[in-house]
Amino acid sequence: MTDQVWKRTIALMIIVMKIGASKKEVDHVCKEVEKLGFKPHLIHGEERNVIACIGHEKRKADLQDLNSLEGVEALVPISKPYKLASRESRKTATVIKIDGTEIGGVRLCIMAGPCSVESEKQLMATAEAVSAAGAHMLRGGAFKPRTSPYDFQGLEEAGLKLLAAARKKTGLPVITEIMGPEDVELVEKYADILQVGARNVQNFSLLKELGKSKKPVFLKRGLSTTIREWLLSAEYILTGGNPHVILCERGIRTFETSTRNTLDLSAIPVLREQTHLPIIVDPSHGTGQWQYVIPMALAAIAAGADGLMIEVHPKPEEALSDGGQSLTFKRFGELMAKVRTISAVVGRTV
Ligand code: PEP
Ligand code: MN
Repeated sequence: MTDQVWKRTIALMIIVMKIGASKKEVDHVCKEVEKLGFKPHLIHGEERNVIACIGHEKRKADLQDLNSLEGVEALVPISKPYKLASRESRKTATVIKIDGTEIGGVRLCIMAGPCSVESEKQLMATAEAVSAAGAHMLRGGAFKPRTSPYDFQGLEEAGLKLLAAARKKTGLPVITEIMGPEDVELVEKYADILQVGARNVQNFSLLKELGKSKKPVFLKRGLSTTIREWLLSAEYILTGGNPHVILCERGIRTFETSTRNTLDLSAIPVLREQTHLPIIVDPSHGTGQWQYVIPMALAAIAAGADGLMIEVHPKPEEALSDGGQSLTFKRFGELMAKVRTISAVVGRTV
């Protein structure tokens, strides 16, 4: 671990001593803190003493166990558990660059394409249509995480090859999903960005493997992942040595059944405050119905998202997956026109 990374993974914890705790008790706690590799700083208060402890995040859990010592009232963690992902450790926004495309800069990044890569004809037509409408990246799943094993599972490597061919033809960088650690080597060969789907946000073996990758990782929020858990998942990739992580809000499961998920747009300002990582919103999976995609895409941009991921299909009614939430080429063109209007209002370009 370099000095710089160590600095960014420092933990700060306050040990609050009980009113009337003896000097012997305070000294004993300080000694135990030191044994764990933390530096104790004793602060004398009018009523009670507190000990500020500075050390490495890795040992914070051991420190927490000191609450059983005599004279200790409480332990209060001050720093965030996610270190490298946090704004505390990096004030400036992370901007990810793929050739001429930026994610997290002033220009919004619009990723569009089919849910699944189905055929050469379907993918090429979509790639050309979204490119002509002004999209910056092509999306398309070759490995599909489907709820039912009987549903279309994706074209796998043949799908990756089609994505690479579409990139060659249109110049659009491609993003595609990766489902397991064993596929990293293969998918890396073809994709510009590796997508971790909602169902894999806590697949820690996958996240660790992606920490070693040189390619940016697009980390979708899980169906019931809190923002804290999500950022800790990002932390797995960052501590592994890969600084290129993009977060994607794609809706969470709530009691509401009128939409496929509930798109949590309030996550955008919360993330903005907590992290320097770029934020993309996926209103296609977030709502599950094409009629709701444009309004929620515009709301996401208005709320400060760095871009969108949109499902587009030449014939949504014939799609092998997620047809109901996919936009036609014409509707995608409408979305882009409206995004241009909104983006200017919030000081962004497209
Ligand atoms: C997808 O992007 O096609 C996908 C499967 O999304 P999610 O992981 O958000 O469900
Ligand atoms: Mn989909």
